[in-house]
Amino acid sequence: MSRYTGPSCKKCRKVSSKLFLKGVKCYSNCVMDKLAAAAAGRRGGKIGGVRKAKLSEYGVRLQEKQKARFISGMGEVPFANLFHKATKATGQTGEQFFKYLETRLDNIVKRVGFASSMRTARQLVLHGHIKVNDKAVNIPSYQLKIGDKVSLDSRLAENVGVKQGLEDSVKRITRPSFLEFDASKNTATLLRWPDRSESSYPVNDQLIVEHYSK
Ligand code: SF4
Repeated sequence: MSRYTGPSCKKCRKVSSKLFLKGVKCYSNCVMDKLAAAAAGRRGGKIGGVRKAKLSEYGVRLQEKQKARFISGMGEVPFANLFHKATKATGQTGEQFFKYLETRLDNIVKRVGFASSMRTARQLVLHGHIKVNDKAVNIPSYQLKIGDKVSLDSRLAENVGVKQGLEDSVKRITRPSFLEFDASKNTATLLRWPDRSESSYPVNDQLIVEHYSK
C-alpha cells in the first residue's frame, strides 16, 4: 500500500482528534480547534454541521489503531508488522509495541527536537542528515538500542530552519528523561527504554491489542 501524502489535517479529522501532525503549526492554526469552537457555539455540538454516527466496538478499536498509526506516519503493513514483532517479545504486547514505536529513529529525532513533526523528522533521516553512533543512517524505522547516540549533521546544525525548529521545540516540548541531550554537540543518547507514561502516543494500548487480536 502506498504512503499517504495528502493533507495531515485530514487524518485528524478522520479520527476526530488533534494529533499534532504538523509540529508547531498545530498550536496556532488548527482546523480541529476551529471545528471545536464552531461546534461549541452550535446547539447539539455537531462538528462540521453533521452529527457523527456512534462508532461500533470495532470502529472504536480501529480508530484507536488509526490514531497511533497516523502519529507514527507509518503505512498499514509496517505498522501491523511491528505489532506482530511486539507479540513475540517478552512482556506485555502493548507496552512492547509502544517501546518499539518510541525508539524508532524518526520518533527520537522528533523527541529530541531536531524536527517538530514526524514528517520533517523522516525527511531529515531520509536525506542522510542524522547519524547514529557517528554513522549516517537513512532508515526512519531504524530501531535504536540503549546507549545509541543520535546526532544532527554538523552542516545542517547551522541551517536557519533547523535552528528555528530547535528553538521552537525547546519552548513547546520537554525532552524526556530517557534521552540525554548535549546541546553543544547536538547529540542525544538513549539512556534507557521509555516507560509507557513517557510515550508520545496518547492512545489506549488495550484497544489496539484487541484490534489486532480479533
Ligand atoms: Fe492539522 Fe495539526 Fe490541527 Fe491536526 S493538530 S488538524 S495536523 S493543525
